Amino acid sequence: MITRSRSPTKAGAGQLLADYQGKRDFNKTTEPPAKHARSHGQPIFVIQEHHARRLHYDLRLEADGVLKSWAVTKVPTMDPAVRRLAVRTEDHPLEYANFKGDIPEGQYGAGHVEIWDRGTYENLSRWPLPKALAQGKIEIDLHGQKLKGKFALIRIAGERNRENWLLVKMKDDSPLTKNGQIRAAHSRKQSHQNVKGHHVVPPQLID
Ligand code: MN
Repeated sequence: MITRSRSPTKAGAGQLLADYQGKRDFNKTTEPPAKHARSHGQPIFVIQEHHARRLHYDLRLEADGVLKSWAVTKVPTMDPAVRRLAVRTEDHPLEYANFKGDIPEGQYGAGHVEIWDRGTYENLSRWPLPKALAQGKIEIDLHGQKLKGKFALIRIAGERNRENWLLVKMKDDSPLTKNGQIRAAHSRKQSHQNVKGHHVVPPQLID
């Protein structure tokens, strides 16, 4: 059973990371412990390529001293024509942004984790990020290596205790949104996906 606070700004650190803590045995996994961090000026983002039961890409945005998280079901892209399903997952500790390695068999999210992209982001939403999150509409400017420029996260549905969002590249003036380089970034993992037979993934299979 997954529970998630709808108004996380008022929640204590322990509460924000309770789901994270409850799913893991820290004697068995090398993932970082549930620890709340202090906010700072340049919030970070990370995208982790996670070879779990199904390959997916965990997008995490720093807010409230934790990492707000989504499991993106296919490789993120700079192509504004492509919408990616992003299933909201439990908040992770800020330190998780540095995590790569193997989550052991039998543990939650077992499989290999690599850092696919990382950097800082600027919140372009009308509201501070936690409120934008609660409202279901986030606009951000990502300063990553692979992903650069404006992206939107839009909540499309809440199903049981999961929320489905879309991750979409917004059109902007970035030369990267013009064809050549986007395609390179987009297709890099394509063969990988095909190998994994990666199509639409039911949310419950993403962990
Ligand atoms: Mn994951």
